[in-house]
Amino acid sequence: MKPIPEPLRQSVGQRVDLIDTPALVIDLDAMERNLQRMAEFARKHQVRWRPHAKMHKSAELALLMQRAGASGACVQKVAEAEALAAGGVLDLYISNEVVAPAKLLRVARLAHQLAAKGGRLAIAVDSLEGIQRLAEAMGPASAAAAIDVFVEIDVGQGRCGVQPGEPALALARAVTQHQALRFAGLQAYHGRAQHLHSAADRREAIAEVVQAARATRDLIAAAGIPVPLVTGAGTGTLVHEAASGVYGELQAGSFLFMDADYASNERELAQPAFEHALFVKTQVISRSDTHAVCDAGHKSHAIDSGLPVVALLPPERALQYANGGDEHGILRANDAKARLPAIGRMLWLIPGHCDPTVNLHDFMIGVRGGLAHGVVERIITVDARGALT
Ligand code: PLP
Ligand code: MN
Repeated sequence: MKPIPEPLRQSVGQRVDLIDTPALVIDLDAMERNLQRMAEFARKHQVRWRPHAKMHKSAELALLMQRAGASGACVQKVAEAEALAAGGVLDLYISNEVVAPAKLLRVARLAHQLAAKGGRLAIAVDSLEGIQRLAEAMGPASAAAAIDVFVEIDVGQGRCGVQPGEPALALARAVTQHQALRFAGLQAYHGRAQHLHSAADRREAIAEVVQAARATRDLIAAAGIPVPLVTGAGTGTLVHEAASGVYGELQAGSFLFMDADYASNERELAQPAFEHALFVKTQVISRSDTHAVCDAGHKSHAIDSGLPVVALLPPERALQYANGGDEHGILRANDAKARLPAIGRMLWLIPGHCDPTVNLHDFMIGVRGGLAHGVVERIITVDARGALT
């Protein structure tokens, strides 16, 4: 755990308007509502949920979700798994390919450590080479210390994953040939489909995804290899995977914080109404007749999925955020005659993309009682910030 700097520690119990800027702030009430909505949704559809921790990178939040019913956490990187394990998360899935021998030795060490604590590590593979390397790193492990291995199939994104059908069956067979590897099922995730604007386009894309996953699962099972689980899905499409009867586990991560990009897409009626829970607090540091300037630029929030949206203003005072560089945002009024915010005025930004925004910060400030009048309840560390390897 990172040590919390003294001024930040002292902000606990203080009013929200005293938080220095720029700062990454969680509206804890909104976050917990999102959590409950997800837990209820998963219960209703009788699927497990293993939220992706690449989004929040925090052991505390991973454990919070496990207490609410999550089956564990997904991560994308070995270093993320190590950081969360150090923070007490014992059921981890690296939903990604790892092939470097040095990394695989870390994977093996972590798998043994977690197994010894009654936990579990899982990983994805999409090649014979990757399976061979993983087995070598694991060594002659006992069945009890084995690692769970998901064969990733490419369900249409054209990123990682072997082709569905026979090529996936060949990999599943290869996994079963190693004592230290336990075939755990299929990884079937379509990243691009998550962010399609039209609900109909997402539905169509996932219909194909489900078909490929189902056919591959059935082929492997027919060959005599049980397929314990099909796992995948993100915040944009989870209604479809959940209703498919094929997926047993949802990996959505962004639902916890909801960014501006996800909120700008058409919502499926069946999708839980996730609300914004992550904000960058900023303040006006300069002002002219035409614009105001705030102290949050793209070192405070990621802009790969669009610029932040200025939140919590009445319509007649609405502001548009324009990129002012690393450290600045330029704010213009929607209505040219509207009064611009005064120097020192605090403002709240909804980041365009939550995952890379969190990765820019060491700490998230948890506020209870709303952003207008709430107080700082606790500081949440971004344990896996910068965990790239
Ligand atoms: N699963 C995998 C493999 C991912 O790469 C991601 C995100 O990119 C997710 C799940 C979670 O998606 P989201 O945070 O958009 O809900
Ligand atoms: Mn994302």
